[in-house]
Amino acid sequence: MGKKKELKRAIVIDREAQLIQVYTLDEEKTYRGIPRGKVLKKTKIYAGDYVRGEVVDPNTFAIEEVEERKNLLIRPRVANVDRVIIVQTLKMPEFNNYLLDNLLVVYEYFGVEPVIVFNKIDLLNEEEKKELDYWVDIYTKAGYDVLKVSAKTGEGIQELINYLEGFICILAGPSGVGKSSILSRLTGIELRTQEVSEKTERGRHTTTGVRLIPFGKNSFIGDTPGFSKVEATMFVEPREIRKYFREFLSYTCKYPDCTHTNEPGCAVKEAVKKGEISCERYKSYLKMLKVYLEEIKELCG
Ligand code: GDP
Ligand code: ZN
Repeated sequence: MGKKKELKRAIVIDREAQLIQVYTLDEEKTYRGIPRGKVLKKTKIYAGDYVRGEVVDPNTFAIEEVEERKNLLIRPRVANVDRVIIVQTLKMPEFNNYLLDNLLVVYEYFGVEPVIVFNKIDLLNEEEKKELDYWVDIYTKAGYDVLKVSAKTGEGIQELINYLEGFICILAGPSGVGKSSILSRLTGIELRTQEVSEKTERGRHTTTGVRLIPFGKNSFIGDTPGFSKVEATMFVEPREIRKYFREFLSYTCKYPDCTHTNEPGCAVKEAVKKGEISCERYKSYLKMLKVYLEEIKELCG
């Protein structure tokens, strides 16, 4: 057996043209990464990629291997994303559950686990807190993790940091919900604004790479946000949308290709009727399919 070199593990935190920056996980230091050996110049390397290699001088890390990636987001382009933090607010701006459901479908489609973070809880009175809990309950029952925070007062921020330990994450959600404020709470750094991109559909991030910022215990967060709002049907065929409502997946309908609309023996509709699946979520589903159901009043009251 040949003697194998001890390779260090690092994460690519920045990739811009020929410049690769890596961050070693043991000593927590940043180096310039240089592909070498099996890793050819043309090997695709993205922010979020885990690499193995060795430190060759105080500034340089020779990349010998790129680990297989579990997913790759396109906007921003980050690999191995463990959580997309979908930031929402009940107020300022007003909560829109249909927009959230569209974001959830799209991230489910990309294979990235969402966590829903309701920000600005400092703004809520007692009645509004109850209203927020109504939604928290719906998304928790649907199978999502939901956290409540205030980037302003810091409430819930430590819980968020603990929750994200060891994860690569990115922020998403509408403008004005506090993505930038949350990022600076977590890392002390400002978010790169998307202002331009929302108007022109062309973001800085298409020309400038995303940078992953270390925070907490081995956690990393992208300095460029993901989708602010998106329509599920931009990525997913209407007939496929049902696969990305995760709470539907534990039900077996009479027909395996049931669209959960007009078919007899639909277990999903039965679950809506029994209150096991939220009417709000089911209504969003029908809206995405552009289907109007006569029985919706009877089902949901
Ligand atoms: P982004 O567009 O999602 O990045 O949102 P920003 O971080 O820029 O925040 C939008 C506005 O909401 C700013 O005026 C922030 O100061 C404010 N804001 C952010 N987080 C909170 C919060 O937790 N509570 C309150 N009251 N305001 C907040
Ligand atoms: Zn069905």
